[in-house]
Amino acid sequence: MAQQRTVLNGIVLRDTDTRESDKILTVLSPAGKLSVIAKGARGRQSRLAAAAQLLAYSELTVTGGRTWLYLAEAATIELFAGVRQDIELLSLASYFAELTEAVTDENMECGEILRLLLNALYALGALKKPQKQVKAAFELKLMSLSGFAPLADCCAVCGRTDLREPVLDVANGVVRCQRCVLPERGRSVRLTGPALAAMRYILYGDEKRLYSFRLPEQDLQSLASAAEAYALAALDRKFRTLDFYRSLRPLDRKEQK
Ligand SMILES: [Zn+2]
Repeated sequence: MAQQRTVLNGIVLRDTDTRESDKILTVLSPAGKLSVIAKGARGRQSRLAAAAQLLAYSELTVTGGRTWLYLAEAATIELFAGVRQDIELLSLASYFAELTEAVTDENMECGEILRLLLNALYALGALKKPQKQVKAAFELKLMSLSGFAPLADCCAVCGRTDLREPVLDVANGVVRCQRCVLPERGRSVRLTGPALAAMRYILYGDEKRLYSFRLPEQDLQSLASAAEAYALAALDRKFRTLDFYRSLRPLDRKEQK
């Protein structure tokens, strides 16, 4: 039986070293997440080495079938050098990759999520957008695209669109006025007015202009705290890459308390 060959564009979300000089790659393509063995990719002379790195975006030729897929050829499209050269940006981008891996699956339409991730890496590395802003927008939009969108248009209890002292109720996935309490109690994060406006812009606005809003530092911090708390609550887990990123930015941590 002839081996099936498939050509797809994909980004490496995780690379795991295996025996000898092989790697197992977790790749996100428009058609879903897949695991691919890159034979010899850790060898110095390997022509697969560049494409087999974390966050490399390439045209991949994959062979195999039932049990394992193998990387036969690869042509890199974008390596995000601006992200790779900076330890903070690389660790934030690694968190984006881990978060993306958590919400995607095999045989799942992932075109929009893939585009979101590529644009986020471009915004960090090439456009040099503020990390806090890119992180918050990425977290909220990713949650939205993967079916975890919070309801942010009005208070979930009284229905007001101009909420009084708005909070993001991360357990229920809604916004509400501080005093409008839902029967089910969970963690809530305060939102400033401009932070709520930015959240709506991210969730309901034009995707192509996702990162083109500006917020004063205090409002950006409010948005960032809410977005992170929401992503962690919606997925109900921790992320090793996020803990590492935080350890590089101790000042952010203080602000969040
Ligand atoms: Zn209310």
